Amino acid sequence: MAEVIILDRDGVLNTIVVDPEHGTIDSPLHPTQVTLLPGVPEALLTLNHLGFALAIATNQPSAAKGKTTEKNLRDTHARVLELAQAAGARILSNQLCLHRSEDGCACRKPQPKMLLDALRDLGADPTHAWMVGDGVTDVEAGQRAGTRTAFLGPRKCDACKIFDGHSAAPTVWCADLPAFVRHLEASRPPRP
Ligand SMILES: [Mg+2]
Ligand SMILES: [Zn+2]
Repeated sequence: MAEVIILDRDGVLNTIVVDPEHGTIDSPLHPTQVTLLPGVPEALLTLNHLGFALAIATNQPSAAKGKTTEKNLRDTHARVLELAQAAGARILSNQLCLHRSEDGCACRKPQPKMLLDALRDLGADPTHAWMVGDGVTDVEAGQRAGTRTAFLGPRKCDACKIFDGHSAAPTVWCADLPAFVRHLEASRPPRP
């Protein structure tokens, strides 16, 4: 059975966009705002070489909030995929929730639906999957779906307080995606 890694997108593959004028941080709202985090295309290719199928599950409520258009969001996602796959990696399933929290949809993380849909797409079982994200809701979604979970981020962050001594703790905690890939490489031999 295929082993799957389901990736959160913003803060895992691409950088969060800082608006210095308003002092806000947000997902990229237009393809020109997309910048990948260091080492991401190579890390994804290594995951493919280790035998993992890749998927993305991302909450993208900005069009529903009136901050951009749905077309811009789709074009932005296409740009992330173009850059992320530039080294030759392949991302096989893309799950986007376009709703806001107040819409009460079934798909928005921490709901597990997007993860389960990706696993169904790829013919995989949750016990053969990881959910990887930089948000507490990513870890919660993974736990609800029944996957292992990797939290990406510095140890000194708000998530520490949430995870500390709490059942929501991730399976592993790594600084970034390349560090998570090194963790996996160390724990399993590459396929011949
Ligand atoms: Mg994120
Ligand atoms: Zn949704």
